[in-house]
Amino acid sequence: MKTRKDPNTIAAIEKAIAEKYGKDTVQDFRNEWEENKEKEYLTQLKEMRTRRDKFSTSKEEIVVGDVKITKRSCRQKDDRTCPVCKTYSFSRKDDLYMNRFKCCHDCYIDFVVGREQAWKAGDRPLHEHIEYALRRRK
Ligand SMILES: [Zn+2]
Repeated sequence: MKTRKDPNTIAAIEKAIAEKYGKDTVQDFRNEWEENKEKEYLTQLKEMRTRRDKFSTSKEEIVVGDVKITKRSCRQKDDRTCPVCKTYSFSRKDDLYMNRFKCCHDCYIDFVVGREQAWKAGDRPLHEHIEYALRRRK
């Protein structure tokens, strides 16, 4: 049974299919489109969206001392790389320092302690100092 569809709906579904299954699938879709397939597909889309929403809103709370951080469970890799020493960190402990000082915990210990004001004003260690600190951390 063929049914007429709103062209906007079809375009949107084609785009979604192309993204999920690749462009070739869109051709098949044009030729063999049936209402029950659309229903099935829309159900899938809805499920995918529900799952994604659930995922993106699941938050994690971290408490360091008296500071509470709410962290989204899905974070960009960039957020986890210290801008100072370029170390990639999985440590939750580093999140606090990343938020407050834009560096990891080790950099905080090595470069920030005792000179927070200068640090917040944008003062950063020399490249040699960072290299030296990195060697010492290993
Ligand atoms: Zn660092």
